[in-house]
Amino acid sequence: MNTKRPLPRPDEDSEVFWEGCRAEELRMQECSECHTLRFRPRPVCPECLSDQFKWTPVSGKGRVYTFGVVRSGVLPSFREEVPYVLALIDLEEGPRMTSRIVGCEPEAVEIGMSVRVLFEALDDTISLPYFCPQ
Ligand SMILES: [Zn+2]
Repeated sequence: MNTKRPLPRPDEDSEVFWEGCRAEELRMQECSECHTLRFRPRPVCPECLSDQFKWTPVSGKGRVYTFGVVRSGVLPSFREEVPYVLALIDLEEGPRMTSRIVGCEPEAVEIGMSVRVLFEALDDTISLPYFCPQ
């Protein structure tokens, strides 16, 4: 655990998302009008502009849409972590997330590969959703 790295700061929109990560559950906002799931958390549906929604757990399964291997140019607090894989992941339920691929060598990551979420606790309140090969 590297405690020097900057941590996410949950706000009014994202608090429930981060509580879910802490409980090892990936939660998305689901629009009450058009039922679109959205990520990142925000107060209004990007499809129909409704401000009515509920939180829904999702499977945490998805596929790599695209990725890059980060080898340099990072903040000092991330230097010990390179190389790492930063990826866009399309969840089975639709939303696209930015996250890391862990649990395999960077060279093993491929576009389209099946992945599933796992959670890494950084401190007592923040757990980050990462993805690993399924
Ligand atoms: Zn909507």
